[in-house]
Amino acid sequence: MHDIIVIGGGTAGLTAAIYARRAAKTVLVIEAKACGGQIISTPSIENYPAAPGISGFDYATKLCGQAEALGAEFVYDRVTGLKDGDPKTVIGEKAEYTGRAVIIATGSENRKLGLPDEERLTGRGVSYCATCDGARFRGKRVAVNGGGNTALEDALYLSDLADTVYLIHRRDAFRADPSTVSLVLARGNVKPVLNSRVTGLVADRRLRAVRVTSAGGEETEIAVDGLFVAIGREPGNRFAEGLADIDQAGYIVAGEDCRTKTPGLFAAGDCRTKELRQLVTAAADGAVAADGASKYIASLAGA
Ligand code: NAP
Repeated sequence: MHDIIVIGGGTAGLTAAIYARRAAKTVLVIEAKACGGQIISTPSIENYPAAPGISGFDYATKLCGQAEALGAEFVYDRVTGLKDGDPKTVIGEKAEYTGRAVIIATGSENRKLGLPDEERLTGRGVSYCATCDGARFRGKRVAVNGGGNTALEDALYLSDLADTVYLIHRRDAFRADPSTVSLVLARGNVKPVLNSRVTGLVADRRLRAVRVTSAGGEETEIAVDGLFVAIGREPGNRFAEGLADIDQAGYIVAGEDCRTKTPGLFAAGDCRTKELRQLVTAAADGAVAADGASKYIASLAGA
């Protein structure tokens, strides 16, 4: 048994682990994929205080190393369930883990288009990470789908590599920062395809084209070798249902104190309801949740 179980090894989870270890609590971090979280694939972080330009990979490596050096333990498993009690039980695909307090810091996952063959073609032309896979499309034709900061930054990055970048967005205006939009639209090889949705993937073994349907219902095919889907992210918190309220979009209902409706169960970072999902707010949540968890454990000892 550990004092605190942290579910998720991204910025929120690892900051929680750091704060909890410094409060002399035993900590187990359960991570489904790779230590570091979604920021790993960001080429350059420009808005984290005092670390301008650090790559996501370097940042994540430092963060994981810091938590490990302080004595946090790590296990790689996908959490599927949670039981209340003292201790609480976290159910994974490989094992069950017990802890007196639990911090959920599961972040969010790439939203899928939900098209037939999307899963089969992932890695065969369909990608959710331009910085991971962009180099494979040097000199080729690609499409980016989305109108947020991720999509526009992906289009900018890919325009340096690919021959042509079709930027397909369902509305007539991008929601990304105006400065980024201006940079993208100044690139001669970026072709905006507005008021349009990707409605089909044309493929043999690999992706060959995307089918696009305009707001007026007109269907066209655009020949591409790659499609980068950047239509936002979705939390994966269903395992907490019952012990935590989950809002319609799938986020855990918790305030700035990161407390859920179950005493000793906290939600930190992108997985909880909040206004601004950024590295710095994820880190802040991690500290708050670890402090709350430590105080909860102290209250049990005093009971
Ligand atoms: P986002 O801001 O939520 O944008 C998602 C985009 O995808 C929107 O343009 C949305 O269209 C579109 N979309 C959503 N569902 C769709 C669907 N089913 N089919 C077609 N299009 C769909 O997501 P994001 O760009 O990944 O950014 C997430 C957060 O991280 C944001 O707060 C963003 O500002 C932040 N971020 C910051 C940076 C940075 O500061 N450098 C970089 C990346 C991300 P509508 O516009 O019509 O809703």
